[in-house]
Amino acid sequence: MTTDSDMPDTVPVLVPMPAERPYSYAVPAGMAVRPGSIVRVPLGPREVAGIVWDGPGEGVNPKKLRPISQLFDCPPVDADMRRFVDWVAAYTLSPPGMVARMVLRVPAAFDPEPPLAGLRLLPGEPDRMTDARRRVMELAGNGLAWTRSGLAHAAGTSLTVIDGLKAQGMFEPVDIPPPPVVAAPDPSYAAPELSPDQAGAADVLRQRAAADAFSVSLIDGVTGSGKTEVYFEAIATALEKGRQVLVLVPEIALTSAFLDRFHDRFGAPPAAWHSDLAPRTRERVWRQVAEGQVRVVAGARSALFLPFRDLGLIVVDEEHDPAYKQEDRVFYNARDMAVVRGHIGSFPVVLASATPSVESRVNAEQGRYERLVLPARFADAVMPEIRAVDMRKAPPARGSFVSPVLLEATARTLERGEQALFFLNRRGYAPLTLCRVCGHRFQCPSCSAWLVEHRFRGQLVCHHCGHHEPKPEACPSCGALDHLVACGPGIERIAEEIDGHFPDARTIVLSSDMLGGVKRLRLELEAIARGEADIVIGTQLVAKGHNFPKMSLVGVIDADLGLANGDPRAAERTYQLLSQVTGRAGRFGRKSTGLIQTYQPDHPVMKALVSGDSEAFYDREIAERERAHLPPFGRLAAIVVSAGSRAEAESHARALRRSAPASAEIEVLGPAEAPLALIAGRHRFRLLVHGERRADMQGYIRAMIEAGPRPRGSIRVQIDIDPQSFL
Ligand code: ADP
Ligand code: ZN
Repeated sequence: MTTDSDMPDTVPVLVPMPAERPYSYAVPAGMAVRPGSIVRVPLGPREVAGIVWDGPGEGVNPKKLRPISQLFDCPPVDADMRRFVDWVAAYTLSPPGMVARMVLRVPAAFDPEPPLAGLRLLPGEPDRMTDARRRVMELAGNGLAWTRSGLAHAAGTSLTVIDGLKAQGMFEPVDIPPPPVVAAPDPSYAAPELSPDQAGAADVLRQRAAADAFSVSLIDGVTGSGKTEVYFEAIATALEKGRQVLVLVPEIALTSAFLDRFHDRFGAPPAAWHSDLAPRTRERVWRQVAEGQVRVVAGARSALFLPFRDLGLIVVDEEHDPAYKQEDRVFYNARDMAVVRGHIGSFPVVLASATPSVESRVNAEQGRYERLVLPARFADAVMPEIRAVDMRKAPPARGSFVSPVLLEATARTLERGEQALFFLNRRGYAPLTLCRVCGHRFQCPSCSAWLVEHRFRGQLVCHHCGHHEPKPEACPSCGALDHLVACGPGIERIAEEIDGHFPDARTIVLSSDMLGGVKRLRLELEAIARGEADIVIGTQLVAKGHNFPKMSLVGVIDADLGLANGDPRAAERTYQLLSQVTGRAGRFGRKSTGLIQTYQPDHPVMKALVSGDSEAFYDREIAERERAHLPPFGRLAAIVVSAGSRAEAESHARALRRSAPASAEIEVLGPAEAPLALIAGRHRFRLLVHGERRADMQGYIRAMIEAGPRPRGSIRVQIDIDPQSFL
């Protein structure tokens, strides 16, 4: 490009701010930037890292134009990724800068990793030879570079031996490139022998992965059918082609089981990516993904924004999992965005689940995705026998929550030396505490939520804002002593009850807020897998992806818990969660049982679980969604207006409603006070935008926001396209 001498070359740079578009910067003479380059630019009084974007810079008064201050020595963000950022921004109605921010999360990785200091042996002889020196010189005689400590270690000598030789000029200093975070996976390392069903599905996936074309395949297979083994074949094909692979796995931080299995199949683990990585590892993974050295990443949803150099396949395991939805800043669903990423990059996407989302099932029925069914468990493992425990007929003892049926089954299980799992999706001891004298209920001071008693910690805790206070002895309202009563169960209370019945059993209680964090959880999960516990009591985090060989009984304490809220996906979610948790039983050939405590044994969810007939359940769910024009037959978007005062939030929400354009295919419902009307001191009102399948929801909402008043003061407006939460 030729540059006019008084007109500096300008480029657009997208900065990690709520910026609606890139800003223009001057390119200093001699700086070779191109679209995708990561640069440092001045922004107001400070400097930030940004990405050189596509197109010409905007015409800015040359006097005001500020120059790029630094071009990082980093592979540029590729064109597909830049299109992806723009696409996600447009779809989620987020500023592109905030999406770019997710790509630019690891600033320390923009500079290359420094090389290691190495030593290479030079020809010659030291002044005198010792055994130790001889060993060192023999090893280093291969002409390769060694690190000082690596050579000492390999030769079994102290560092002083190396330093002595170095002092005599026996070594020249050389740079050693930084080592890879993970070794390269070998696609043919340990290919399994597949069952006929598995082989059929794997063949299709291998063909898809071999083609440089977009496709979406849905592996729909019961828990334990070998979905992982099957999609490993697609990964092998992509690796043979030299492409990079991303596997999205929910709760990757919690379990090394997936990494171990991958290691067994490919001879090396994938690089893990999640929020719990050590900072240094994080930097190295990001960098080596950008350089193409890391071939496979297994990550949480944010891995979608890693700067892959040559991504050729994405697998989304447990594609129905709600954890794929981010509900913070940029509201996106990683499963859906993975499909978009595949479309932009013209490569295949594989979704896997034992209980696919209704959306993916409909996409398969309508021919947009291809569905590959694995109908049975691998080898001699059989599905658990599921039974409903009708709580009206077999009620628990007064003040307890576990029915005699479940207690009896537990006793039998323990006698056989097997494990039992009790599942209740509620942390803490009790969800509500009240005073028996005056009826006072303990509520969070800044949320419309009851405080949950956590008895192990001796605290009352708000699960929405984290507020906590010690549980008092006297009622703060009437002053009565020792009259506070816990209402309803959390897992701590179930643990107490179980301990009373089986005092000799080894019991582990697991929930996400356990002291000791992720590390402790991992250790506990590994201990369970080794059979070091008899009874496990846990929330949904025990439901996900673990293999517990000795587990043969799963008891669901309150199967009705998730059905009561107004969420259009309540039945689907409950079915998925309970299938998954009961699917923990009997994965290794033992006869196993799932017992589901319910007051509604005739509910379609319970019937589907008991009969194992998922088809009837999906047919019914799909028909209901279609009738109500709910996703995927219609579209939803939520707009949440929050403010420091109720009046402000309400009047802003009403004003937005009034500014909604007229439309034949889109209607706006609300505003209504949100079910969680107050969170962390902010009052919340919700609008629900409901449109036909083909309606331009984004255009409509943008018009509505633009015509409405600017949010002033404490008012905030959040837009959630395809909402998962209706609270
Ligand atoms: P899913 O992901 O469908 O729940 P997995 O892939 O975890 O199922 O398989 C369940 C168990 O069966 C795992 O222990 C897995 O190693 C084993 N398995 C599945 N298919 C094979 C196979 N073809 N050869 C050997 N083991 C297999
Ligand atoms: Zn709170």
